[in-house]
Amino acid sequence: MTALPLLLLDVDGPLNPFAAEPQEQPAGYRTHHVRPDSWLARFPGRPVGEIEPIRLWINPDHGPRLLGLPFELVWATAWKGEANTWIAPLVGLPELPFIAWPQMHQDDPDGLHWKTRALLDWADGRPFVWVDDELGPQDTEWIAAHHPGPAATFRINPGIGLRDEDFATLREWARTELGTGA
Ligand SMILES: [Mg+2]
Repeated sequence: MTALPLLLLDVDGPLNPFAAEPQEQPAGYRTHHVRPDSWLARFPGRPVGEIEPIRLWINPDHGPRLLGLPFELVWATAWKGEANTWIAPLVGLPELPFIAWPQMHQDDPDGLHWKTRALLDWADGRPFVWVDDELGPQDTEWIAAHHPGPAATFRINPGIGLRDEDFATLREWARTELGTGA
């Protein structure tokens, strides 16, 4: 059996449509308030109870639906390993591998997203789809020029998150590009 393609998955945007308007819980989502360690570390010396938590909108159907796709799921998020602690249980996913970015939010000399180069290194030639609300056409072009295997980028609207048709599109990509999950 051939290896499944990778689904490199961002959190804020695709799974947490933080920019939804009005600022209310979208249909199908649940609201959570969390204080991961990396968030608390931004407020040294402040009592935990005084630190405003991060609001998350998470749809618990998304995990099972993602697991039903013919992909190997990988976190590709600034949450890094904390996605396993704070996001996976809420969205209905098991512990997943994650990309441990060597740097985050840095500028790029070619105007690429800060994740793009490290993400390609991590994929190491394997077929992948990258799902993120911040990637741009320059990332898509650069990946096409530098990745030896099939690859696709799916930009998600952070005001909407993953839609029904996105699941269908991902499944269709795997089928047409790789013949998996037919
Ligand atoms: Mg994002």
